[in-house]
Amino acid sequence: MKKRRKMKKELKIILPLLITLALIIIAFIGFKLLNKEPEKTFLEKIEMETYAHITNYAIYGIHMNIEGNITLPENTENPKLMLANGQTEIEIPCILNQNGNEYTFNTSNFINEGINLENLPQEELYLVIKAEEKEENKIIEKYYSVENHSKYNNMEYYTLTKENKNNKIDMEWNTYEECPTWRFNIKEVKLPSTVYDITIDPGHDGTDPGKVICLLPNEIYDPSNYDGCYKGGIKIEEREVNLNISLALKEKLENLGYKVAITREDNESRVEIYEPMGSATMANDTHSKFSFAIHNNSSGIEGGDAESKGIELYVANDTNFDFAQNLIKEITEKANTTTSNKNQHRVENGIYQRFFTQEEIDQDDYPETKSTNLIYYYYIREVGGVSTHAINNGYSEYRKNDHYNSNNTAEPYLFELGYIDNLVDVNNLKNNIDGYAEGIVSALQNYLANEK
Ligand SMILES: [Zn+2]
Repeated sequence: MKKRRKMKKELKIILPLLITLALIIIAFIGFKLLNKEPEKTFLEKIEMETYAHITNYAIYGIHMNIEGNITLPENTENPKLMLANGQTEIEIPCILNQNGNEYTFNTSNFINEGINLENLPQEELYLVIKAEEKEENKIIEKYYSVENHSKYNNMEYYTLTKENKNNKIDMEWNTYEECPTWRFNIKEVKLPSTVYDITIDPGHDGTDPGKVICLLPNEIYDPSNYDGCYKGGIKIEEREVNLNISLALKEKLENLGYKVAITREDNESRVEIYEPMGSATMANDTHSKFSFAIHNNSSGIEGGDAESKGIELYVANDTNFDFAQNLIKEITEKANTTTSNKNQHRVENGIYQRFFTQEEIDQDDYPETKSTNLIYYYYIREVGGVSTHAINNGYSEYRKNDHYNSNNTAEPYLFELGYIDNLVDVNNLKNNIDGYAEGIVSALQNYLANEK
């Protein structure tokens, strides 16, 4: 009995103490909870009433171009295009046109400029407009989201393989509390088996040798002994020269870790143009970032005494020549060759742009699909999709090019590396295969290293 009374007495002291302590703890937690400013997420900071309209966008090679417009509220100015998430802010180069509070913007007038998709960090970023609101003497930064007014939807991009690694960028249209958003979610992924970095198209195939010439010393010139090539002469077929350089190029690119697709690996196979994995489709079937068509020229003079020689690089419309200039510089150096002396279609030393002429359009079987601002070569015109304005929805005896109106395409280049009927060129093309391949590879490396 005595013991019990003692315990009761102790409880009478301890219990109120415990209750008091519990109350203090609860009050402390409650105080903390009530006073905690909840951290505002980036999307909560975005202005909900105003947003930009995105009217067009396209990926061409490693770049993405965006066009749109926004009407900013009163006293707000200096809009900048950003990929942002509250911590990271990447300003995107932008051409602005202002009319009062109305702005139109586009990332570049060149199809191979805009956002460099290769260098984005592995984060979730939103495309937004950042502008400055002036309030008395203060400047308040405001963020505005974007709404999709283009004919396109979500898309994805896989970066070039670097040290065996690839990022995937999911560009997703969404809404946050009724506010439209465009999210760029960048994360490392394993490259799907169907996705490649670069496509090579060695010009011509088993059914078409391309340019054919016969190299022969003058003394054995004998028209009565002609069998495609004079007896004793050496027959040179363009397809073989193209293939040898293409295979060397593929190997060198693969040694650097790139995943390379090629339209043919021998001189016998047939390469279709518009079938899946054809010469006009493979670059985009494989989601390649660059595509190289390897060709060689001839001026039609047999016997290896043609005066024309040197490299011609054919490029797409509305492009800057950063990569093209690199290619010309590195190939002429590494292969010890010259740029072509041909003036027609030349826009710069070694760089050529051939558009359809009105005369060519008038003579075309499908003139309605051509115009004078279209590149003549289907390889460039059709691989580039909307950026190069291709029209091929199955208008001819050919099937449709599934990518002709795609806004997510490779950046194509068409090489005429030399003249196989010029003795200096043909010897170089046969004996210096690695030099030509090395030139293309180092130009690519230079370009990627310096491209912002
Ligand atoms: Zn050719």
